[in-house]
Amino acid sequence: MAHPPTDDLLQSRPEGLYCAAGDFYIDPWKPVQRALVTHAHSDHAKPGHRHYLAQSDTSALMRERLGLDPKALESVAYGEKRRIGSVTVSFHPAGHIPGSAQILVEHKGDRWVFSGDYKTEADGFCAPFEALPCRVFITESTFGLPIYRWPDAGGVFTGMLDWWAENRRRGRCSVLVGYALGKAQRLLHGIHTACGGAFPGPVFAHGAVLRMNTVLRDLGHPVPETAPVGTAAKGRKAAAEKAAFRQALVLAAPSVSGNPAGEAWLRRFEPYSLAFASGWMGIRGPRRRRAADRGFVLSDHADWDGLNAAVRATGAERVLATHGYAEAYSRWWREQGLEAGVLETAFVGERGEIGEGEPERESGSASEAEDAESPAS
Ligand SMILES: [Zn+2]
Ligand SMILES: [Zn+2]
Repeated sequence: MAHPPTDDLLQSRPEGLYCAAGDFYIDPWKPVQRALVTHAHSDHAKPGHRHYLAQSDTSALMRERLGLDPKALESVAYGEKRRIGSVTVSFHPAGHIPGSAQILVEHKGDRWVFSGDYKTEADGFCAPFEALPCRVFITESTFGLPIYRWPDAGGVFTGMLDWWAENRRRGRCSVLVGYALGKAQRLLHGIHTACGGAFPGPVFAHGAVLRMNTVLRDLGHPVPETAPVGTAAKGRKAAAEKAAFRQALVLAAPSVSGNPAGEAWLRRFEPYSLAFASGWMGIRGPRRRRAADRGFVLSDHADWDGLNAAVRATGAERVLATHGYAEAYSRWWREQGLEAGVLETAFVGERGEIGEGEPERESGSASEAEDAESPAS
C-alpha cells in the first residue's frame, strides 16, 4: 500500500488515520502517542496508545474493556472543543452505541468530519446522530449498497415479542443474540419499551452482556435489569432454573454460536429457539443466519438511505468512504458528481458483531473474548 504525501488534513498512515497539523491519530490500529477514539468497539478502540482522548462514556467503556490507566485517558463531553496543535477538535453524537462520536477537525476555516460508525435513525437509547456541516466527510460504508434498507425498528421489536410469546407457548427458551456492547442493551431497551415496560417473562443475560449492562447503567443509560444465567448444575435449584428458562428471554453474545464452548453454554437452555439481530439478517448468505431459527433485521449502522441522507446533510464537497463497501459506495458518489474515494483503514466491525462489519468472514471461534481484537485482514 503506497502512501503518497498529501496536504490533506486527515490522511491514512500505516498506524491509522493521521492529522499532521495536530500530530494525533483517530482510531489508530497500531500503538501511537496520541489517539482520538470515536467509540469503544474493538476495531476502533485498541490498547497500547500513550494518550487517549474520547467522549466521556467511551472513556469509561474503554477503561472497563481495555483496562486502561485512567491517567492515560482524557474525556470530553459532546460538543466540547479542544485545541491540539494548530487544529480544534470536537466529538459529536454518531447514534451508533452509547458514547459513539463523529470527530470534527477544524483547521484555518477548513472542516473535516470522521464519522466513525453511525446510524441516522434515533433509537431512543443513545444520543441521536447529528449532521455536521463540513467540506470533507469521511463516512463509514458498512452497508453502503442499495440492497440494505432497514425496516422500522418498532416493528422489529414487536416481532421479537411475538417470537418470545410463541416460544413461551411451546415451552421453549428464547435465545436472542446481539453483540455485547451496544446491541444487546438496545435490544433489551427496545423490547422493554415494546411490551410497555413490564417483561412478560424472566430475562437472563450472558456474562459478557451483563458486564456491559452494568457499565452502561452506571453511566445513566436506560438498561433494564437482567438476571445472570445460574451455575446450578444439579438438584432442585437446577430444576427450577430449567423451568424458568422455558419462559425466558436470554440475551446472548455472538460468541455462543459456531464453536463447541458456545454450544455447550447453549445446551442448558434446551429446548430453545435461537435468533440473531443484525443488519446482515436482511439478506441471504451470512453463515450465522443458517444457524439461526430466526433473523431480525436490526443494525446499529446506517442503511443505504441513512448513509446517503447523512452525506447530503453535511453538504460536503468531498466524500471518503471506509469500512465495508467503500469502493462501491464512493463510486456512487462520484456518479452523483462529488469528489469521492476510498480511505484505507483496518476497521472490520465489532468482533462477534455477527458480521456487522464483516460479512461471511467471522474471525475464528470467539468462545468468551467478546472484546478481543479482530484480525484486520
Ligand atoms: Zn462500532
Ligand atoms: Zn466499526
